[in-house]
Amino acid sequence: MSKIRVECGDITRLRVDAVVNAANSGLRGGGGVDGAIHRAGGPSILQECDAIRYRQGCCPTGEAVITGAGDMPSKHVIHTVGPVWRGGQSDEASLLANCYRNSLDLAMKHGLRTVAFPCISTGVFGYPPEQAAPLALHAVRDFCARHPDAVDEVIFCVFSRADEALYVELLKD
Ligand code: ADP
Repeated sequence: MSKIRVECGDITRLRVDAVVNAANSGLRGGGGVDGAIHRAGGPSILQECDAIRYRQGCCPTGEAVITGAGDMPSKHVIHTVGPVWRGGQSDEASLLANCYRNSLDLAMKHGLRTVAFPCISTGVFGYPPEQAAPLALHAVRDFCARHPDAVDEVIFCVFSRADEALYVELLKD
């Protein structure tokens, strides 16, 4: 059984096996949580992203790739590319669910037992947080039900009190 919980704060400070990055498909770093992770982790993360891009090209929306975590206390970064919100009729929901599922799948394949997610797509990419939160939780619960021994703990690392309230409410039941 995996434990699922919410924590409010900076994901770059968490001592977990993997922090998930809300990356863009070019894997070149950017603003928001992506920028924070590259700043905190240092240049080795971008070097590894460059090598991945060289090998396999850009990371498609909904997919995930893994690098080390550089100077952060975590061990790995799982970079996943969330969908840009275009009104909800462009497959955004299934693409966002894929982000959570594929990130956990990658964690499982690498034997990583503790994983922290930011609120993927709900910043610059514009996904409404109140729609993203139940979807994220459902995707994580579904994965954990299918793979009960895969991970010990999944943390939703929120960055605002509003997002914290959303997840706390959802995690009640
Ligand atoms: P996207 O482009 O996928 O929307 P953003 O980085 O713009 O990604 O935002 C995703 C979420 O990450 C937002 O809820 C934002 O508040 C949050 N965030 C930004 N910085 C951090 C951080 N250091 N730790 C955790 N979450 C963060």
